Amino acid sequence: MTLTLKFPAAPLLPPDRQPKNPHYELVALNDGGLPDTYTVTQVHDCISNKARGMRRVYRITMVSEAMNQTRDFVCKVAFGMRYFEVLKEEAMLYEGKLESLCGQAVPMYYGFFMGETYEGRTGILILEDCGRPLRVPIRRQPLYFRYHLLHALIQVHHAGVDLEDFGVHNVVVTKDPDPSRADKHIPVIIDFSNAKKHKCLYNDELVAYSVMPYPSLVPCSELWRAFMEAEIFYPRVVTFFSTDVPIEYLQSVELLKAKGNPPDWMPQDRIDRVAYRVCKDHRDWWAARKALDEGSVRFGCARMAHCCGPCDECGLYPTTG
Ligand SMILES: [Zn+2]
Ligand SMILES: [Zn+2]
Ligand SMILES: [Zn+2]
Repeated sequence: MTLTLKFPAAPLLPPDRQPKNPHYELVALNDGGLPDTYTVTQVHDCISNKARGMRRVYRITMVSEAMNQTRDFVCKVAFGMRYFEVLKEEAMLYEGKLESLCGQAVPMYYGFFMGETYEGRTGILILEDCGRPLRVPIRRQPLYFRYHLLHALIQVHHAGVDLEDFGVHNVVVTKDPDPSRADKHIPVIIDFSNAKKHKCLYNDELVAYSVMPYPSLVPCSELWRAFMEAEIFYPRVVTFFSTDVPIEYLQSVELLKAKGNPPDWMPQDRIDRVAYRVCKDHRDWWAARKALDEGSVRFGCARMAHCCGPCDECGLYPTTG
């Protein structure tokens, strides 16, 4: 007995091709000791389409024969040896290093299936549907969400995986199932196709709005970059006439002028103006930060991304490449 996936042939074929059989049958890399047949009954939208159609992501409905259960999932499809191998590597991460994070920091994993289609070697990876993509930069999200996301990223690093180019494209967002947090959302990290093995040396406890550490004290450059992008720290210094001065000097314009050491030759009215502006910019930044923090998660798009055209509501095109 094996774990088998029956996937409808028509959605995978170019429109001008007639399928020989209505389904492709693929076999699991690892059946986890639970022989079963998963049948994809519906292929909904194509969420992503890259490498001229050789890498795709679909939202699907699937039935498990053994469990007699029908549910929605997301599947990644890779055609041809090259993309097959990349997707298989990703599957090995879900079955290995990331296994203990599945269902929390990363989606639940339901198997990697291998077979032959019109494009030759084909792999299909099945994951939990973790909701909507995020189209708005991480720094524009509320604090609880940014913190949760960075915490999930640290867990991924500590599991021995580095996403290399971690960004908003690695995040999907699901509603918090806790009824008392019905207006809150949970980030889930996706897309490990560029992931690398990683020995993470970051071992601190991340504290939101703690004073920004010196970069040399954060011994993981990828996490450092993510922390900066997420604006999770409180600045240590600000620039005043091309010099870094401690943030405490911004308590008042007078204090900044007295302690900030403006150049001797600088006219007083210029010093007054710059000191006022530096204080105001910082205050404005913090006020904007607070407003974002108290708001909701910003998706940037009311509709689910679709690979085939612009969004009905915002007109944005999904990224393909
Ligand atoms: Zn790391
Ligand atoms: Zn939109
Ligand atoms: Zn599409």
